[in-house]
Amino acid sequence: MSEVKMRISECQNLKDIYAFFRQDEKDVVQSLQEEGMLLPLRRCPKKTSRTAQILDRNTDFKGHYAAYCKKCKKFSSLCKDTFFEGTHQSFEDIFVALWTWICHVSQHDAASLTGISRNALNQDIASWKILNTPHRTLGGEGVVVQIDESVITKRKCNRGKGVRKSIPEKWVLGLYDTDKKTGVVLYVVKRDRATLAPLIRQYCKEGSILWTDGWAAYKGLDKFGFKHHVVNHSKEFKSADGSFSNWVEGYWSTLKQYCRHTNVLKSKLLAEHIDEFAMYHQYYCGSLPYRFRCAIDHIKERYPVV
Ligand SMILES: [Zn+2]
Repeated sequence: MSEVKMRISECQNLKDIYAFFRQDEKDVVQSLQEEGMLLPLRRCPKKTSRTAQILDRNTDFKGHYAAYCKKCKKFSSLCKDTFFEGTHQSFEDIFVALWTWICHVSQHDAASLTGISRNALNQDIASWKILNTPHRTLGGEGVVVQIDESVITKRKCNRGKGVRKSIPEKWVLGLYDTDKKTGVVLYVVKRDRATLAPLIRQYCKEGSILWTDGWAAYKGLDKFGFKHHVVNHSKEFKSADGSFSNWVEGYWSTLKQYCRHTNVLKSKLLAEHIDEFAMYHQYYCGSLPYRFRCAIDHIKERYPVV
């Protein structure tokens, strides 16, 4: 990194991250404020004062700077309600760990690589998983979301040691935003209305136009603020350029590969494994700097500072 000040989201490799944190501590904190990850300076929240806060040094706070009110003579944390609240790691360790996370390095290897304790990595990675929790991001007023369910493992009988074990069918639900050309695939235990409707509501914004097949579980989606169209699967479901089928099929085959590779199809934790896959998949496209930037954007979206 040169003399020119770089933003944390512009880091291209670990070396850049370390260089970013070699800057003056005040510059680091201001840069994270400008990035929208730390609280900006405001007027003192005390009604009688309303004095403008200043950024002042105090080693009791993360990053060694905090907002200070000259009138009340009080410091307040810039991390309140942000992504950083509640973690004990330094800013540097958090971003280094985030880099290893988007590289899909195991926690064990990440600890050896960076010198950050596994315990600390563990805590942060647990909080990043929150980033993967459902969020209404698909569709919107007038946007078509295509929805389809598909079997991931067929019902079959397994013979082992003279016992016949029946493996039930397992399903996944695919939702595809035809405008943003992105989607999610979710593991579902059942393909009934009680299972599918809440998921669709969780992921799709009101006003979306939902395209589904005639499966009974999709009936009544109009009640939740969606416009619902039942379409003929084989004829109309594919968009003109075939993007939905390509997208879902691509996702399927990667997911199936992953499940075979990790041998989790019979696992009781299959749902968790599929979640893990979804998270990896989301952060697995593009170059490492791109993924790092996506992860930071995601954090900013989930922990807005204003
Ligand atoms: Zn004050």
